[in-house]
Amino acid sequence: MVKDKCICLICRASVAIPKRGNLERHHKTVHKNYEKDFPPQSKLRKRKVRDLISCLKKEQTMFTRPAKQSKATTIASFKISHILAKHKKPFEDESVAKEAFIEAGETLLGDFKNRIDIMSAIRELQLSRPTVTRRIEVMSQA
Ligand SMILES: [Zn+2]
Repeated sequence: MVKDKCICLICRASVAIPKRGNLERHHKTVHKNYEKDFPPQSKLRKRKVRDLISCLKKEQTMFTRPAKQSKATTIASFKISHILAKHKKPFEDESVAKEAFIEAGETLLGDFKNRIDIMSAIRELQLSRPTVTRRIEVMSQA
């Protein structure tokens, strides 16, 4: 539960009516492979759940996060927008870039102590289409 909303730990979707049946339906349809990828009682699952919870907590405290971090996130977002523009890639690619980033990060950072911090910084990257479009406009005016 986040404020009054019931949020899915995995995809951040909010479930309208937080009843057991609704939650189960969401989990079984949207996250079909979860049971298989993270078997119940497994260490993998415990770690996954712990990561998911701490990620969510990090996001909740995002507003109290030091300005330096959000500046770094903005710069990173500008750099990715610039690369996409330079290679004349469609803006749809920015979400692909982010997805690749997250996947690679989770694999590469493995057991790094600050993995969760790094991953939450990546997740904060603003790479939605309007953001990227705005970034490119700003850069082309400079
Ligand atoms: Zn979900």
